Amino acid sequence: MILVPMNYPRTQQLNILKTTSRWDVIVIGGGASGLGVALDAVSRGLKTLVVERADFGSGTSGKSTKLAHGGVRYLAQGSWKLVREALQERKYMMEKAAHLCVARKFIIPVYDWFHLIKYFVGLKIYDILAGSNNLNSSRWMTKAQVLSALPRLKQSGLLGGIGYEDGSFDDSRLCIDLVTTIHHHGGLCINYMPFTGLIHFNGKVDGIHLQDVTNGLEYTAHSGLVVNATGVEAGNLMLKEHIKEKYVIRSSKGSHIVLKSDINTGFGMMIPSTADGRVIFAIPWKGKLLVGTTDVSPDKGTAPLMPSPDEVNYLLSHLNAYFDPPFVEGDISASFSGLRPLVSLVDDKRHTLEVSRHHKVVIAPTGLVSIIGGKWTIFRKMGMDTLNAASEAALLDCMPSTSAQLQITPSFTFSQSDYIHPELPYSLADIKQILEQEYVVTLDDLVSRRTSCTSISTLATQEVMPVLTRLFEDFKTNGS
Ligand SMILES: Cc1cc2nc3c(=O)[nH]c(=O)nc-3n(C[C@H](O)[C@H](O)[C@H](O)COP(=O)(O)OP(=O)(O)OC[C@H]3O[C@@H](n4cnc5c(N)ncnc54)[C@H](O)[C@@H]3O)c2cc1C
Repeated sequence: MILVPMNYPRTQQLNILKTTSRWDVIVIGGGASGLGVALDAVSRGLKTLVVERADFGSGTSGKSTKLAHGGVRYLAQGSWKLVREALQERKYMMEKAAHLCVARKFIIPVYDWFHLIKYFVGLKIYDILAGSNNLNSSRWMTKAQVLSALPRLKQSGLLGGIGYEDGSFDDSRLCIDLVTTIHHHGGLCINYMPFTGLIHFNGKVDGIHLQDVTNGLEYTAHSGLVVNATGVEAGNLMLKEHIKEKYVIRSSKGSHIVLKSDINTGFGMMIPSTADGRVIFAIPWKGKLLVGTTDVSPDKGTAPLMPSPDEVNYLLSHLNAYFDPPFVEGDISASFSGLRPLVSLVDDKRHTLEVSRHHKVVIAPTGLVSIIGGKWTIFRKMGMDTLNAASEAALLDCMPSTSAQLQITPSFTFSQSDYIHPELPYSLADIKQILEQEYVVTLDDLVSRRTSCTSISTLATQEVMPVLTRLFEDFKTNGS
């Protein structure tokens, strides 16, 4: 096992990359799936390399609804196994990443008796599936209790609400803390290091070619086990390896808006049924209200992935069916979109919202292993399943997984005061620590993923940008 400090400069990372002749596991993709595989790999004592084309979590994994949940909606689809599995993993996240994943109280407001019974029964099943992994059980809340938790709610016809608990977490920070943890256990994760091609030996995958985005230099890394964890793009690499599979990856776009809100009680809300058969969450998020999500076909072209006007209208109108005074576009302080990497059968023509969120491990005849589909909440289990499958296919000889026991370690503790802006809960000391320790290559890494400035408030981010740019430039000139 290579032993390296928890946080170390890029020059040292590149040195390890150059001098390591062979890895036990190479993972392509530094999102939830790839980091889950790497976490599981280091838990088995394997020499592990993760390469990420851009920044850790810059794909789908930094743009989720940030729920560590079983997914109440999937009960209606009959995906009991997925829900139970995710509820088990929710417990793992809340125990081992307690600094990032917290229990959040949610309310489903109810206005008629039919829905009251339907949602109450549904959430009781959710409690039962969670079993010993349950948080506080779901319960009936009176109209007065619901109104004090969600003060702007429409009162006319309100019967009360069903309260339940689920996990809520900071997805981008979890990516970084996973990187720190993987380093702590002897692995190596490098960002801005795209995979450019596979190396084959005797018809089997034996490594990868890489090219450093920061200077164009090329590298190779060798291993008999290469895992494709490239999210929505995993299908391209599978096709190159001539995998004729019964599964394909279908991407679907999901958008969020972040609202300035006077509902500061800590309660989230679930809208249990939308016009297109979805659920929408309104979740407290760093002093704001995160509302999402949609499920639509990805936009054509290469424009930046952002919510369309239709998606914004969709989210606001569903929310405003419940709130008075209504939320308006002027209340939106930030917004973001992501692409779900869904796995479906080749001939499945259903709408993406009906496609299962299960994951699959696919092994090519050349030995390339692809982990596709899934959910953030089950990232650790997806990693474990991937390595178990590789081991069963004799691509790897390793110890059993111990990832369920691994504590996810933060690289430092954030300040609780002296914030750079009243709306952005980060101090100058935090920013300096991040620059020194957390593999920041671009300013966007700092404002979008090491901190969540851009997903809290676009305006506040613009206001602090001159200070952050100066610190970033100083770091680039004088830092490591
Ligand atoms: C709108 C939305 C809301 C969601 N909400 C939730 C939720 O609340 N809870 C939950 O559990 N799940 C949620 N999910 C699902 C979850 O976010 C995804 O399943 C998960 O993030 C996918 O992770 P991934 O690693 O497979 O993909 P990604 O995060 O996209 O990671 C793939 C990585 O591969 C990299 N890559 C691609 N090509 C290369 C290359 N050539 N070389 C190196 N790297 C490469 C990409 O840059 C990317 O970083 C949500 C998804 C969406 C879209």
